[in-house]
Amino acid sequence: MTERPRLTVLSGPSGVGKSTVVAHMRKEHPEVWLSVSATTRTPRPGEQHGVHYFFVTDEEMDKLIANGELLEWAEFAGNRYGTPRGAVLEHLEAGVPVLLEIDLQGARQVRESMAEAQLVFLAPPSWEELVRRLTGRGTESPEVIERRLAAAKTELAAEPEFDTSLVNTSVEDVARELLALMNVV
Ligand code: ADP
Ligand code: 5GP
Repeated sequence: MTERPRLTVLSGPSGVGKSTVVAHMRKEHPEVWLSVSATTRTPRPGEQHGVHYFFVTDEEMDKLIANGELLEWAEFAGNRYGTPRGAVLEHLEAGVPVLLEIDLQGARQVRESMAEAQLVFLAPPSWEELVRRLTGRGTESPEVIERRLAAAKTELAAEPEFDTSLVNTSVEDVARELLALMNVV
């Protein structure tokens, strides 16, 4: 009998490189399933509905929450984000390694509802480098960057709550470490 894989949660401040690491990892290991969240934020250039996120209205998000369809949800820097519960449970039942890329508030909720989940924190090499990455991505206005940096201070302070911390100096190294934690390699 194959062991049911553990749910892995990857969190860390906005701009630390979570999406970059996950994309790199999945290029070589597409068998890792990344949950697609629902969000009320507007798409960035190149983001596709159903691939990067399910882009929903405020009313649709209200309904998902009211119907208990989200495993967890949180408000982050002015928008709401949530993980559809059904797809996560189906993939775990089928023995597929599942990864959630969510914020700190969501990671705490998953810890409460799924004790077996493994929580991984992605840390920047330094505060200055985090600011550089978030600004350099060029996808947010100065106001949004400020909100995200304020949230980043709270997120960084919560690092000890996580089971494991990885420092994103090299995307390749972190992707490899994450795969090992998920028992994929
Ligand atoms: P997040 O998903 O955590 O918000 P992104 O993956 O969008 O962050 O990365 C933010 C920016 O940092 C992007 O421009 C990305 O190319 C860059 N980046 C990610 N990882 C590294 C790294 N190890 N070294 C240098 N730049 C990186
Ligand atoms: P972004 O707008 O940069 O895509 O994401 C902003 C933050 O929301 C990131 O920290 C990201 O991990 C988090 N996030 C994305 N999806 C979810 C989700 O479903 N739930 C929660 N709690 N956070 C999410």
